[in-house]
Amino acid sequence: MQVPLGGWAATAASEGLEGQVKAFEGEFVVTRHGVHIAVVGELHVVGEVPCDRCGAPLVVSLGGEVSVLYSPVSAIPETIEDVDALPIPPVDTGFPIEDVGEYDGVALDLAGVVREWATIERPHRLLCGEVDEAEDAACLARFRSMSGTSGAPVIDPRFSILSTLKPVPED
Ligand SMILES: [Zn+2]
Repeated sequence: MQVPLGGWAATAASEGLEGQVKAFEGEFVVTRHGVHIAVVGELHVVGEVPCDRCGAPLVVSLGGEVSVLYSPVSAIPETIEDVDALPIPPVDTGFPIEDVGEYDGVALDLAGVVREWATIERPHRLLCGEVDEAEDAACLARFRSMSGTSGAPVIDPRFSILSTLKPVPED
């Protein structure tokens, strides 16, 4: 079954991205293999994600193939030994599967599939300097002015007394 990815998918992508989605394109083909459900397709997202240091909006472009096999939770053995014996993927779909997941056995939430993909594809730490090296100094300056540390370091009054303490000689 071909599933066009509409607005709900763009919303899910923005949740996974933790930013705004500017452009979204994708398509899933969902097939059933006994109790397992395979989701295969492609996703392309252009989004705006805040810099992890200064918060300035940065444009990120993610894209790639999705190929996940979902098995009902009840079909996944609970003990470690059984998991080792479990062939991954647990069923031959006739096409390559890159990842495996689980679902409740009743309905598979495709928005969750998109959200999870965006979370994994998103850079874990994104700084202005990684997008444009020349922006690094400006990024640091923005961060310092926001956090109020542009001047002398401010010592928390609760700990300031520590700076006046002399270490006790050991002998
Ligand atoms: Zn920044």
